[in-house]
Amino acid sequence: MATLNLVYYPDDPLTQTAEPVESFTAELATLAENMLETMHAYDGVGLAGPQVGIAKRLFVLQEPEGLEMCLVNPMVTEHSGEEAGEEGCLSMPTIYAMVTRPTHVRVQAQDIEGNALDFEADGFLARIIQHEYDHLEGILFPERLDILTRQSKYQEWAEARDNFILGKAPSNHAT
Ligand code: ZN
Repeated sequence: MATLNLVYYPDDPLTQTAEPVESFTAELATLAENMLETMHAYDGVGLAGPQVGIAKRLFVLQEPEGLEMCLVNPMVTEHSGEEAGEEGCLSMPTIYAMVTRPTHVRVQAQDIEGNALDFEADGFLARIIQHEYDHLEGILFPERLDILTRQSKYQEWAEARDNFILGKAPSNHAT
């Protein structure tokens, strides 16, 4: 397994619509394993293909109970309820906001071998699924905020991004 490089907003392909997964190969399974390892390395609870530079419709997540899951070609087919909850994103580290989303979803997807899945999710799991699903549509969580909050969150990230990325790069300044 390997830790993958994260892509930071607004770099490609984060704002693009991801392509369906058509073949369920060993490479796809390895990608999902590496995405899980990367998610854990960065203390995330979900990670979508575009966040590691892969514009394919899959994401991994860890349920609140600890179970890991990989969803391929997911669709949210029903939703109900509404609740605000705090979200952050590995593609915009250090930025957090209260995001209002449905509390209950029904999901149809495929697993990493291509088997059909159909299940319902509530609460935090429903929130993770919707946040990750948005990544497949090229949508980051500030798009779910009112316009003034959205603008202030993008501004906050624009100011944080350079320091964040410079801070992670190897220092070339010592010479
Ligand atoms: Zn995210």
